[in-house]
Amino acid sequence: MGKVLIIGAGGVGSVVAHKCAQAPEVFSDILLASRSKDKCDAVAASVKARTGRTIATAKVDADNVPELSKLIRGFKPAAVLNLALPYQDLNIMDACLETGVDYLDTANYEPLDEAKFEYKWQWAYQDRFREAGLTAILGSGFDPGVTNVFCAYAQKHYFDEIHVLDILDCNAGDHGYPFATNFNPEINIREVTARGRYWERGEWVETDPLSWSMHYTFPDNIGKKKLYLLYHEELESLVKNLKGMRRARFWMTFSDNYLKHLEVLGNVGMTRIDPVEYQGRSIVPIQFLGALLPDPASLGPRTKGKTCIGCLMQGVKDGKPKRMFIYNVCDHQECYKEVGSQAISYTTGVPAMIGGMMLLQGLWKKPGVFNMEELDPDPFMEQLNRYGLPWIVNTLEG
Ligand code: NDP
Repeated sequence: MGKVLIIGAGGVGSVVAHKCAQAPEVFSDILLASRSKDKCDAVAASVKARTGRTIATAKVDADNVPELSKLIRGFKPAAVLNLALPYQDLNIMDACLETGVDYLDTANYEPLDEAKFEYKWQWAYQDRFREAGLTAILGSGFDPGVTNVFCAYAQKHYFDEIHVLDILDCNAGDHGYPFATNFNPEINIREVTARGRYWERGEWVETDPLSWSMHYTFPDNIGKKKLYLLYHEELESLVKNLKGMRRARFWMTFSDNYLKHLEVLGNVGMTRIDPVEYQGRSIVPIQFLGALLPDPASLGPRTKGKTCIGCLMQGVKDGKPKRMFIYNVCDHQECYKEVGSQAISYTTGVPAMIGGMMLLQGLWKKPGVFNMEELDPDPFMEQLNRYGLPWIVNTLEG
């Protein structure tokens, strides 16, 4: 049992606060801190109404390490769960090192002025966390996060080697807007408009953005959907940590409406990440666009339908070929009923809470910086079933 500090009161941070409040035997005290305190207070009111628990709130600028360290020293949490933006990862890791507290996030660091995400910046903290006897868990959302744990679970229980991995991320939900992103718009658009990349026989192969697609028939009446190849951060650690991987790719569904708007916005320069001068002021177009789009945290009541995210794997066990799909199906409206959020925030926030639980219960507590597949998947998988993200293992023929 211990205290937890959650940083970031957006769509995902709100789910984490609600889910931590559902486990008082693990999270004895919760402090939610973010750039805007009013957002923290609104989440705290919802947590109180839904669970009866009171959580504390604070204002913090996570770009300011001394301010973060002061907040951490004052509250003395056992772990900091970072649900701000990837730009803040290194600052929050620095503050954790300075104050001697464990760290967890859901997205890897990327520099503000370059749409490039890589683990190298955070892996460079390995020695400092190890020497300090602290744990940093990277990417404890759904993808990255649960997808890494699904792979580790399959590797542990079902395969001697996994040779081919396709991570399939299907959002079959509809929010009714012509264009909106279901997590932070700036991060979402930077990810989707980047060049595609996949792993094939020991090297990375690049593709033009959204130029490769395929169809897959999803379970639970979701049906056949078109998916596009993207580069996604968990591929970088999985090809390093899983035995015998020959090909690893990541695929995501997008509606035609989303793609049409994205193309037009790109063509007119609205997705640019570099500053432009406008009437004597410097404006970053993608940040301005983010301010115009619906707040992902507000999509909960409007989003209907399901998500299905899973890992399609091929490999060998005892000399025989084997194929399987491990996946979760999540219903947007069920999430809204439970915590007031849509399923993208929910499927990210629940694993972040469970990662925090693994730390506080000592199950994943070891010195160093870890990606999720490096840790024992079993206790995490057990808690997914318990806290709203049940999973299914489907062994496939042929
Ligand atoms: P939001 O934009 O909704 O929320 C981000 C929150 O962080 C906001 O409350 C924002 O404050 C706060 N914040 C931003 N900058 C600072 C700062 N300098 N100091 C303090 N607080 C700050 O994003 P989401 O909730 O959609 O996403 C949160 C994280 O989850 C992102 O890193 C995203 O990439 C990741 N993610 C991971 C997924 C996965 O499966 N692994 C899937 C989806 C998201 P304010 O409210 O004032 O703007």
